[in-house]
Amino acid sequence: MLNIILFGPPGSGKGTQAALLVEKFELIHISTGDLFRYEMKNDTELGLKAKDFISKGLLVPDEVTIGMLKNKLDKHPEAKGFIFDGFPRNIDQAAALDALLDSKDHKIVGLFALEVSDEEIIARLLNRGKTSGRSDDQDESIIKNRLKVYKDETAPVFKHYEQSDKAFNINGVGNIDEIQERLSSKVNSLL
Ligand code: AMP
Repeated sequence: MLNIILFGPPGSGKGTQAALLVEKFELIHISTGDLFRYEMKNDTELGLKAKDFISKGLLVPDEVTIGMLKNKLDKHPEAKGFIFDGFPRNIDQAAALDALLDSKDHKIVGLFALEVSDEEIIARLLNRGKTSGRSDDQDESIIKNRLKVYKDETAPVFKHYEQSDKAFNINGVGNIDEIQERLSSKVNSLL
């Protein structure tokens, strides 16, 4: 199985690049942010639990997030592999993901971190906020909070996978095709 983590701060292009990798490598895309937005749109219990955290740019508690992730994994026993986008976002989630995959005799092949400067992230997200309808993209102070959470809680996940030589930095600036080429050649080198 080809299980990869697409990593990087909010607005670094993970969703866009994941969609292209899904086609190329026939994988299933799991974006926890998209899953939460779906639940919120449908006013489910899970959506209600997540809403306050998301609107403040904070992480949704692990028991909610990990449970949701596990359900999604279990729905695709036939998958050739998964792209995890926006998960894991802290060390405990990384440990939970490793354990879940291990219980199925699978593992993470690589984590690919898209590198983009803070200034560019803020500009990209404010721009996306004009059309995405996402309130967490429209307010600069919430965006800065999301970046702080990324640095404090999420960035250590890179080190977690670096310990087993599975974490790679990818230049996330350039046009979509260029970045896709950098990513897919790195993925191919690990096959
Ligand atoms: P994203 O679309 O990945 O930027 O996620 C939007 C928001 O959903 C984040 O700012 C968090 O509030 C929440 N979220 C998404 N994924 C996770 C996760 N793995 N753990 C906790 N909260 C998450």
